[in-house]
Amino acid sequence: MSSTANANVDPAELAKFSELAHRWWDPNSEFRPLHQINPLRLDWIDQQAGLAGKTVVDIGCGGGILSDSMARRGANVLGIDLAGKSLKVAQLHAMEAMTTGVEYREISAEALAAERPGQFDVLTCMEMLEHVPQPASTIDACARLVKPGGWLFFSTLNRNPKSFLFAILGAEYVLKLLPRGTHEYARFIRPSELASACRQAGLDVVSMRGMEYNPFTQRYWLSADTSVNYLLACRKP
Ligand code: SAH
Repeated sequence: MSSTANANVDPAELAKFSELAHRWWDPNSEFRPLHQINPLRLDWIDQQAGLAGKTVVDIGCGGGILSDSMARRGANVLGIDLAGKSLKVAQLHAMEAMTTGVEYREISAEALAAERPGQFDVLTCMEMLEHVPQPASTIDACARLVKPGGWLFFSTLNRNPKSFLFAILGAEYVLKLLPRGTHEYARFIRPSELASACRQAGLDVVSMRGMEYNPFTQRYWLSADTSVNYLLACRKP
């Protein structure tokens, strides 16, 4: 069942991802950066939350790059998104790759939180908050979805001159890693803002890591530098 009857959606954002949906699993496509960072974020999540046997929800899962990899670590994963085309690609990939323990649904975080509150051990919401009109509403819904003691992992882009230079000018105009218009600077979220929205939603902030990229070696790694792309781990008390 589709559930777009909430205001926290930007149809133009969904259209951008739908248009590229057939390329989600091409490691040399616009989604290359997500393929490259996936092992890093997957290990970081797994080390903290222990994915095997856990019930996981992946918010804004797109073509399922992270959802699929978490299922392959033994989690039972539900990936949700509002771009139906991406979900079809995710489903098809799971069939082709014979990934078990993953399913996909077109529903918003808010609607799923009303339907299945407190049912997930682990929640991931990666590179998605910078595409929604009201990230705080998404974060609230995320907090409702998780069981007490459960883990939540967010990632997004910081908002400062360096992130503008790297994530927009560098990635979209100079290196052309991403299509122009992928990101809107005003929607970037400072770590302090994300942490405070998480606390407002009743979560404890546990740890934060930055994701760095070297354009010459084309490698990514996790570090203490949160100035561009970063990850935040929280727990629900
Ligand atoms: N989380 C995935 C994909 C990130 S791309 C990964 O990191 O690999 C951002 C995703 O957010 C896209 O798939 C887009 O369709 C989705 N998205 C944007 N707005 C959304 C909304 N309001 N609700 C759910 N998903 C949304």
